[in-house]
Amino acid sequence: MTEPLIFEISRPGRCAAILPALDVPRAELPEGLVREELPLPEVGELDLVRHYTRLSQLNHAVDIGFYPLGSCTMKYNPKINEDLCRLPGFANLHPYQAEETAQGALQLIYVLQELLKEIGGFAGVSLQPAAGAHGELTGVLIMRAYQCHRGESQRDVILVPDSAHGTNPATTSMSGLSVIEIPSDERGNVNMSALTAACQTYSNRLVGMMLTNPNTLGLFDENLEAITALVHRHGGLMYGDGANMNALLGVARPGDLGFDVLHYNLHKTFSTPHGGGGPGSGPVGVAEHLVDFLPGPVVDVDYDQSDEYPYFTLVYPSKSIGRVKAFYGHFGVMVRAYTYIRILGAAGLRRVAEYSVLNANYLKSKVEGTYHVPHDRICMHEFVCEGHFADAPDVHALDISKRLIDYGFHPPTNYFPLIVPEALMIEPTETESKEALDQFAEVLLRIAEEARTAPEVLHEAPHNAPTRRLDEVKAARELILRWK
Ligand SMILES: *Cc1c(COP(=O)(O)O)cnc(C)c1O
Repeated sequence: MTEPLIFEISRPGRCAAILPALDVPRAELPEGLVREELPLPEVGELDLVRHYTRLSQLNHAVDIGFYPLGSCTMKYNPKINEDLCRLPGFANLHPYQAEETAQGALQLIYVLQELLKEIGGFAGVSLQPAAGAHGELTGVLIMRAYQCHRGESQRDVILVPDSAHGTNPATTSMSGLSVIEIPSDERGNVNMSALTAACQTYSNRLVGMMLTNPNTLGLFDENLEAITALVHRHGGLMYGDGANMNALLGVARPGDLGFDVLHYNLHKTFSTPHGGGGPGSGPVGVAEHLVDFLPGPVVDVDYDQSDEYPYFTLVYPSKSIGRVKAFYGHFGVMVRAYTYIRILGAAGLRRVAEYSVLNANYLKSKVEGTYHVPHDRICMHEFVCEGHFADAPDVHALDISKRLIDYGFHPPTNYFPLIVPEALMIEPTETESKEALDQFAEVLLRIAEEARTAPEVLHEAPHNAPTRRLDEVKAARELILRWK
């Protein structure tokens, strides 16, 4: 980077702000509040604007270009979501404010709970969890509490397919339970004979199974009804990893498909911005028999308090696993998701699913002659192909991904799911146009050609990004966040 860093252009006395005149008596700051050894840069307003504008351009973003990061649902975030969550009545609320003075916010939480219940086919929803992985932990704790409550505390095993996101086995371990991995079959479904054997072996130890549907191969499990029936027959519960709800919106409801618990990723399916670490929101929906175990507080409505308006109130379900988050969860994210759902309406949500599936299948059809798709059937909202070619053996998925950056695209998810070698997991989302998909396909085909004719170009990519290839292990282990 050749641009000057803000610390280098700092000059004593420059200032980017005009402060109002002092209208209170001057007072000394308490001892120790000002750190003399912390020199902050002093710059003018123009330097400051350039600094932050430059920083904002160093990264890729949905608002800059195509972002097909599989499993992450990097759809466009409508800007009206931002307007709504910044309304002073929402943005200036204090979490300790009295319930009766926050009725609008509580109503929004209540209605969002109801909307998610309807969308997922569940009897109860709690908006507490902060993200998908947190929703998983919450859901598994609910399943465990349910098993203990019915006198089955010896149950300590969760079944997880080998295509699962890493957070599924991690959640199970964090809950103090054991993970049994179930292989996939050649069509990308859960291997039914392996599942049957595991259910028999662990029958009286089964807490349940965690299943992502459509799974991380972008495939709807063809044996879903048989799977849920089998797990239920052995006393287990079905946990749904709802990260891929985008493919199902308005078409199928996990609650109707046999799932007992599911987390939603509001920041994926319901368009709230994510990436770079949050905040997100991972509400859990549960079937009737688990409603009492939901984490609290949840919002309930009381029609008796007033004749004119319903009264919204915070309650704890009777056998609640307790609180999993400070206060009420990530409220700003809820306002965005609520806005998104209300603007699209039921018909619009269904079109989201239809277009996301159509876009993925269109893109797949354009590249599958060049990039091998190991599980070749109609996909849902994403597909997984292999990022290597028999006649260019030194080129790997990582090289292809890095080269995509040169062409202005965010890379797909790499090397996941683990069951596909050199995996490139591509999720275009419904918000991209046919032209954007055509451009991306064309570039993927061009890169495949480069792999054969000029593999060194791929090995050295990216060529024109702000940074080249990083030593990612070193960057993670020796993270340097300070300029000096
Ligand atoms: C994103 C994702 C998760 C985790 O969700 P976070 O909100 O990132 O914690 C879990 N499972 C799958 C399949 C995912 O794609």
